[in-house]
Amino acid sequence: MSRYSAWSVFKNGLTGNRGWERAWRDPEPKPRYDVVIVGAGLHGLATAYYLAKNHGVRSIAVVEKGWLGGGNGGRNTTIVRSNYMMPGNRFFYEHSLKLWENLSHSLNYNVMFSQRAHVSLLHSPAARDAAARRYNTMRLTGSDGELWDLETLRREIPHLNYDNARFPIIGAAVQRRAGTARHDAVAWGYARAADSLGVDILQNCEVTGIRREGSRVSGVVTSRGEIGAASVGLAVAGNTSRLWQMAGLGRLPIETHKLQAFVSEPLKPLLDHVVVFGVGGTHFYISQSDKGGMVFGGDLDWYKSYAQRGNLPIVQDVAECATSILPCLGRVRLLRHWAGVMDMSMDGSPFICRTPLDNLYLNAGWNYGGFKASPASGWYFADLIANRRPDPVIEPFDLGRFNRGLNIDERGAGPDPKLHG
Ligand SMILES: Cc1cc2nc3c(=O)[nH]c(=O)nc-3n(C[C@H](O)[C@H](O)[C@H](O)COP(=O)(O)OP(=O)(O)OC[C@H]3O[C@@H](n4cnc5c(N)ncnc54)[C@H](O)[C@@H]3O)c2cc1C
Repeated sequence: MSRYSAWSVFKNGLTGNRGWERAWRDPEPKPRYDVVIVGAGLHGLATAYYLAKNHGVRSIAVVEKGWLGGGNGGRNTTIVRSNYMMPGNRFFYEHSLKLWENLSHSLNYNVMFSQRAHVSLLHSPAARDAAARRYNTMRLTGSDGELWDLETLRREIPHLNYDNARFPIIGAAVQRRAGTARHDAVAWGYARAADSLGVDILQNCEVTGIRREGSRVSGVVTSRGEIGAASVGLAVAGNTSRLWQMAGLGRLPIETHKLQAFVSEPLKPLLDHVVVFGVGGTHFYISQSDKGGMVFGGDLDWYKSYAQRGNLPIVQDVAECATSILPCLGRVRLLRHWAGVMDMSMDGSPFICRTPLDNLYLNAGWNYGGFKASPASGWYFADLIANRRPDPVIEPFDLGRFNRGLNIDERGAGPDPKLHG
């Protein structure tokens, strides 16, 4: 596959753009692969790429029931950050952010990663103290983080509701290296790079069953025939419990919920950062896309469903948050909104782990925050499948943590997905 470069853009511009190759192949399924990954979202595609690139596995299929990137991977609000404090999350998300910083070069695909800063608004001295502890921990462990006072915040983001807010803004906790990326480009970039290393990406190929021989899986049953596999990895986000049941493993500590995203009509440049507002039951985050649309979201819909569309009460809720924090959006029209099917774990933390079956591996529980995790998730899931043991960084992300009572997420909330929304 030829590399994308300034020269290839120039050359194809001169020749009527007829020289571009397909970005990835559309192969027929083979009878058997060394590794079958179910789900061509970001986590599945990244896993396949790192399996081929880091571990030299050459016989890999990614099996996708729809089109690649058609799930949460292409539906999120694209926020990338690593502002976590607790050990399990701290090093994992920092590694992910470092991978993001070089991702366009590694994949030879512009994922439009924009380090425009992630700004969490603070509304009380207690919140400021908690943020100071968290952001100081980040600084002490090789990341970046800073606290802005009100004057700095006003200078950087002049349009917020400083004078009349229900919850007065007193400052912000900021990670400057955080930002956004173009989610479709990330899916396409991983797909193209994985394909160029020989990975078969099988779209329109739904897994309808998992073949078991005792304590091992021998392959998957799909809408395009049976496919044998030495190892199978699940990376199907909100459909995880369905696949888990296909493997005859009973129930998982996961619930499936919907999360919506919203885009406004395009505006002139208004907001140069990612802004997050969360206090008193509100949850709201917003940034501006390169096309000018305001991209924002809020809380989960909080009813269980596999449909990729959301309900109206959340539209109202999110619109209220938007106008309370950025009143200048009051007359802006909403262009589109949609939903993704989330895999909400009971403690708000993910799983990258082995399963009760020898050669079946699980990647799930990314909740509303798995976009930023996708490079490191693929990196460590590939390592787990290739070496059949977890790297120490992902040891806390196993199913056994519920027996150990281990808490990974700093929120300190209880064992219910609602508390992590
Ligand atoms: C509205 C919204 C906003 C979000 N905002 C952010 C954000 O700002 N920052 C952030 O970090 N995260 C965010 N997220 C979360 C993030 O998008 C997800 O955690 C992450 O994308 C999940 O991993 P994935 O990309 O692999 O999942 P998906 O893209 O959903 O991939 C799973 C794939 O599995 C396929 N599949 C399912 N069942 C089968 C089957 N039986 N056979 C074959 N294939 C199957 C699906 O079709 C799908 O393509 C958001 C999510 C949503 C919905």
